[in-house]
Amino acid sequence: MTDLNQTYFDRARRVIPGGVNSPVRAFRAVGGTPRFVRRAQGAYFWDENDQKFIDYIGSWGPMILGHGNPVVVHAVQEALKDGFSFGAPTLREVELVEEILKLMPSMEMVRLVSSGTEAGMSALRLARGATGRNKIIKFEGCYHGHADALLVKAGSGLATFGNPTSAGVPAEVVQHTLVLEYNNVAQLEEAFALHGKELACVMIEPIAGNMNFVRASVEFMKRCRELCTQYGALLVFDEVMTGFRVALGGAQSVYAAQIPGFKPDITVMGKVIGGGMPLAAFGGSRAIMEQLAPLGPVYQAGTLSGNPVATACGLATLKEIQRPGFWDSISQRTRSLVDGLMHVAKETGVDFAADCQGAMFGFFLLPELPSNYGQVMKSDGQKFNQLFHGLLDKGVYIAPALYEAGFVSAAHTNEDIDQTIAIAREVMSKLN
Ligand SMILES: *Cc1c(COP(=O)(O)O)cnc(C)c1O
Repeated sequence: MTDLNQTYFDRARRVIPGGVNSPVRAFRAVGGTPRFVRRAQGAYFWDENDQKFIDYIGSWGPMILGHGNPVVVHAVQEALKDGFSFGAPTLREVELVEEILKLMPSMEMVRLVSSGTEAGMSALRLARGATGRNKIIKFEGCYHGHADALLVKAGSGLATFGNPTSAGVPAEVVQHTLVLEYNNVAQLEEAFALHGKELACVMIEPIAGNMNFVRASVEFMKRCRELCTQYGALLVFDEVMTGFRVALGGAQSVYAAQIPGFKPDITVMGKVIGGGMPLAAFGGSRAIMEQLAPLGPVYQAGTLSGNPVATACGLATLKEIQRPGFWDSISQRTRSLVDGLMHVAKETGVDFAADCQGAMFGFFLLPELPSNYGQVMKSDGQKFNQLFHGLLDKGVYIAPALYEAGFVSAAHTNEDIDQTIAIAREVMSKLN
């Protein structure tokens, strides 16, 4: 049988760099041929060879309801009839923003954009514009989209301001970006002591999904908040992945439950709020958000921002995740997946540590959970590749890289979870 994935991948590589429109899709970390998706429904997708997969990526986070949710499909179809894009305001933009504000009360105003990268980049400009300061802190292993100033080499440590991770980013552009170790309170305090009065913001993934799944400790988060307040810097929560994914109120609700009165100053959102359409957002207090054009001096704009089809998709998705019992059920299923995998790893003698919150999970081929990027890097890459391909061959699709989180959707049944665990048992018993 011809492998159509291979046929199309060869064709793609002739006209698209690496054959993909986002690098990790190319399977370069794990080797092999990327699966070209023909269609998806519920918890599954089918590739061009018609192989069925249980999908634990869900478009890297947005598809919390699973694929083709009928309520969402209907909302999108209805919106399409009225037009694709107008470049003028629509009621649905207001409704979506009101819905977001209801679910994340740390914000009073929100601006809609089209990608997480755009949202993160705009939030950074806003933080700088609102404080009149240039320097920023980000953490090793946190990804905030590919804006120049945020593409800074991990591991540069406290003493040095950033070196760009990507070619094409002038050193001058990242000279104000300070990269610190995640969960390192002493380093954070030292950075504030040295640069506190020049810092516009601290930007953080509160549960870092771009190094698989690493929680900021409560103590660390508390210090981030205290130091920002003390020095007049803004705390920017990048909840592009965690927002409406780890809990209805996002990671900020998880930390607010443990730190009295806790809230970030600016929140960056994406993924779930578009339900699979290009839609993202950033928001904060009225005073901060009114710094944006056309009211204030911080410029920001977008031809397709607040797109009517994308807002219909996002709005329907946010309504569905508020149904009674939604979070209990999805959290319990995610937890049973993680517990099942840990149990199987123990049975088969594989070093394995896993964690989850809401409908997001992560696992490491390490004896215990890491707390920063350096520790994440120690995860066994070769074993991961064996595990990845073993699962893939048997129809379980997880992220094709060691440093990526996993996602469960409302469409995943207990049978899907049980089947996944049974397949993992087979694969893990043959690892090494
Ligand atoms: C995905 C992601 C982004 C970038 O969003 P895009 O829509 O891919 O541009 C930014 N921050 C975090 C935490 C993300 O997970």
